[in-house]
Formats: sequence, structure tokens, C-alpha cells
Amino acid sequence: MCGIVGYTGRRQAAPILLEGLSKLEYRGYDSSGMAVLSGGNITMYKSGGRLSELKRITDNGSRPAGTIGIGHTRWATHGAPNDVNSHPHISKSGKFAVVHNGIIENYLDLKLFLTEKGFSFVSETDTEVIAHLTEYYYNGDMVETLRKVVNKLNGSYALGVLSCYSPETFYAARKDSPLVVGLGERENFIASDMPAVLSSTRRFLLMDDGEIAAVSPDSVLIYNANREPVEKTPFIAEWDISAAEKNGFPHFMLKEIFEQPHALDATVRTRITDGGIILDNIALTDEQIARIDRICIVACGSAYHAGVLGKYFIEKLSRIPVETDVASEFRYRSPIVTDRTLAVIISQSGETADTLAALRQARKLGARILSVVNVVGSSVARESDDVLYTRAGPEIAVATTKGYTTQVAALMLIGLKLAQALDRIDEKDYKRICNDLIGLPEAVNKVLENNIQQLQFIASKYYSADDAYFIGRGADYALALEGALKLKEISYIHAESYAAGELKHGTISLIEKGSLVVAIACDDRLFGKTLSNIKEVKSRGATVIALCSDSSDALRAECDHVIELPQCGAETYPVAAVTALQLFAYYIASARGCDIDKPRNLAKSVTVE
Ligand code: GLU
Repeated sequence: MCGIVGYTGRRQAAPILLEGLSKLEYRGYDSSGMAVLSGGNITMYKSGGRLSELKRITDNGSRPAGTIGIGHTRWATHGAPNDVNSHPHISKSGKFAVVHNGIIENYLDLKLFLTEKGFSFVSETDTEVIAHLTEYYYNGDMVETLRKVVNKLNGSYALGVLSCYSPETFYAARKDSPLVVGLGERENFIASDMPAVLSSTRRFLLMDDGEIAAVSPDSVLIYNANREPVEKTPFIAEWDISAAEKNGFPHFMLKEIFEQPHALDATVRTRITDGGIILDNIALTDEQIARIDRICIVACGSAYHAGVLGKYFIEKLSRIPVETDVASEFRYRSPIVTDRTLAVIISQSGETADTLAALRQARKLGARILSVVNVVGSSVARESDDVLYTRAGPEIAVATTKGYTTQVAALMLIGLKLAQALDRIDEKDYKRICNDLIGLPEAVNKVLENNIQQLQFIASKYYSADDAYFIGRGADYALALEGALKLKEISYIHAESYAAGELKHGTISLIEKGSLVVAIACDDRLFGKTLSNIKEVKSRGATVIALCSDSSDALRAECDHVIELPQCGAETYPVAAVTALQLFAYYIASARGCDIDKPRNLAKSVTVE
């Protein structure tokens, strides 16, 4: 869940580490630190709190001096976020420093083992055992030493290790946590995610589980778990550095909301051709599609909400039964999966720990795995039979926006592809939905142009609310789930989502004068039903903000505010509608003065269980 950066080359390491960490801060931001090696000595700077504090104590990287180092921005799992627990962790003699992303599950056993050997511990972290184990096993050969160390570890890790015996080389290892090697000119890097070092290189080696790397300025050697050298072809990132900058927007979240038209276009346009839907990286044949008798969509957080929308869409079009589950439930509930199941695994980062575990579980049970992933070469992508990449570009804000909408668009492409392969959609509907999908960037642009001021105004009226209820039916209910999550995660307003028809089975007892209700009434087929639910809450005093695709007098008469969205397709409208919900949450959080890109207690890529 944290961010790791490592550098070795000819330049002063500290500012490069700081710059890399600032690009990774979305992954964890409760404390940070760095270790730099120079003249055979490791110098460490660590601090609780935001990265700005590390910048301050290192005078923006002008100290410590040295051209090789490792850095870390933490999202604490073991031990409070404070100076002592922040990484790097250093071994007893001070000869080895370690940064770690993940969880060492057997750290207590290892602590006992090391204590008996005379090591003592200063932090509460699981990570510190790795530093001491490295010292314990060190035999002059760091790759062999690290091999012994990682063999002792249960759990997940991406590691950067500095040894004072290797003046120009640092080491890296990974299992179930992301790590890439960046290749520069007479300098090399490691990073949890490519944007960290994009200002220096776009050439990367993607490390696989179980591998250990020795990174020097002029060479990178990678070994597998048996210590055999591994040859890798560099991966060239298409993203450029501006993708990791705010470009004048006050927050990454707002910038990413505005990037949605472009991201949707990149995700959809080239895949819809005259000859049909072309899903690159998907080898699933029509015969294999015909055998599928059930689809399990599995994901976490907003990706799960994309999956709930996907269920409505895929079932409607393909008539294959779809169930959507959160990964942390799916993996422990003995799901019914066979070799006729298609598991659709959704993850922006492709590293979400629960999602990855669910993928492995589904594979073990015989399912074919089709993943919807944004980060190329990520673990979920690599372990799937088929991958549909969302081409959203790097998403930095913790609260997903373009990640989510491109997932929804990708699921729509999958639904359409399945319906076509099974011959369950007529030509007219097929063409209409293809056109609507191609028109999504335009529809989102219209929301950004036409609705933004109204949303800002409404947010300025209700930003001090304590609670909010999001209601809707059908696909509108899936939108309610995402709208409520967006609001609560960045503004800290308590927000709940309900299938509109469910309110009267309990929750309506909470509605009183002034309760804030956001009613999503975009689905024309269910409009009348949702309108009745709006009347129910209104007559109990609620303040109602409605989202609709075609406002009627009846709706205006009931609601305090009506947000009319552009007309954009009976199946595809949720993408435009959710843009309005994202903006609503954004402006409320902004009015409340919240730290929008880095909400408290959260991190972007949840690589721990
Ligand atoms: N488990 C380690 C800790 O709590 C690493 C957490 C992280 O990935 O940031 O320090």
C-alpha cells in the first residue's frame, strides 16, 4: 500500500527520491523516509506526517549527500504512523536499510527467532524483521542473502534494500506487491509505480513474484527464486510525465474528472469497428463464449460498483446470469464456480490484494479469467487469461473517477461482445449502443460544460450536511452506490445508498426535516416508481436533489433541485450521470476544506488484505 522508490546513478539521490515519492504519495501518506549510502555509511531521514515534512528536514533533498538511496511513503499496517515506525528500517549494526510495501504475516515468529539471536527491535512494524534478517544471513553475496531472507517471509512484500557493502548497487525483491525497475542512462531506479520515475525514464522491467534484482548504475540483474538469471524485454510506458502533474487544476481529482472524455475515447473508440467489437488481449472465442453459463464479477470499492452496473448491462444484453461480489467476500465464501464460469476481475491498479486472491481462487475452481485493469503488466493482468485494459492513464487521486468510468465502459464493451457472439442482440440495438458508447466522451463533456455551475452552487448550499441518502432503482441504484461512496470518502459526510424501493423497509425512519436525499431518476422505465419514492421522503421533510435525463414538471414540483443531464443512451447514461455525482462530491469536499486527493485513512492501491 505504500510507495517505494530507489535510485543509483551519478546524480544526488535525495531529490530524485523525494520527487518519486511525491508521485507515489497517493499510495500512502502517513509518514515517509529515505536512506542514502555514501562513503560506506547509511544516513537516514524519517518523519511522521506528510511528505512535506521529509522535504523540510532534508532541505528539499540537499541532504543527505550520496548517489544511491531508497525512499518510502507509508500507509501503516503494523504500528502507529510516527517517526520510529516509518521506513526505512535499519539493521542492528546499521549496515543494511530496508523499505517495504506489504505485510509480513509471520513477523512475530521471526521477531522471536531474531531476539534469541541477540537482535532487538525499536519499531512496532512487521518490516523491521527484514532488516535484521538481512544482517543475520549476510554472507558477502547480497542476492543469496536476500534469497534466504525472502524464503523466511510469509505474506506480501515489495522490498528495496541498501547494503553498505555495495557502494553502487541496491537490491529489490517482490511477492504480491508491485515493483518495477526503471532503466535510465547510466542510472537505474525501482518504483512501486511507473509515474514515480517518468521524468527520468519511460523504459521499465516488470518484476515478477519471487524475483530478486541487483540494481547498479550501469546494469540491472534479475534472478528468479532459484537464483537463475532472468532475461526481460523492457516495457515502454506510453504515459508521459504530465500525466502525473496537476496542470493547473487545484486537485488531481478534478483534473482526472476532466480527463474522462479523453480516457473514455481511448478505452472505447478503437475497439468498436465496422466488423464488430475488437477486444485486444482477449482470446476468448465465440465457441468458448457459448459455453459460459455464469459470469462472476469480482472487485473492491468503486470497481465493485462498476461491476454492479456491469451486471445490469451484461445480463440485459447477453442473457447470461451475472453475479457481482466484493472480492473479500467472494474469496472466503465457497463460491459456485466451474469451468463454464467466466470470472470478470476488475481492478484499476491490478494489484488490489483481495481482488488478486479472488482471481486465484476463481482460477483454482476452473473459471476462465477476464480482467479489466488500468495498469499494464500489473499482477491481475499477468495472471488473467484475457485482459481488457482501460486506457485511463495514471490515476493519482485516491477517489477514483476516470478509473471507474472507463471500467464501466469496458464492461459495456464486454456485454456487447458477448451479446453479439451469442446472437442475442439485433443489428439496430447493436448499432445504437455502439454509437452511444462512441458518444460517451461528448456526453461527459456536456456535463462538464452545462452542469458544473449548478453542481457547484448546490454543493455550496449543502456542504455542512451531516448525512446524505442516495437512492435509485436499477442502474440508478448502482450509481447511488458510487455517488454515496464518493461523497463519504472525500468529504467525510455520512452517506448511504439504497435501492429506492427499499427505503420504506426501514431506513425511511431516519428521514426528517432537512435530511439530504440525492435521488437518481435517470432510468426512464423506472422514473414513475422513483418519483413515488421521492414523494415519500419529501413528505417527511427531506431536501431532495434529483438527477434525471429529462426533467418533468412532476419532478420539479417535488424536488428542491433538479439536475438535468444530457441525453446519452438508455444503457450508457450512467457514465455521464456519475460525472455529476463525482463533481457534487468534489465541490462539497472542497467547500468543507478537505484534503481531497488524500482523504484520511485511505490509500489508492490497497495491496493489503
Ligand atoms: N507493513 C508495513 C508497515 O506497517 C508496510 C506498510 C506499507 O506497505 O506501507 O510499516
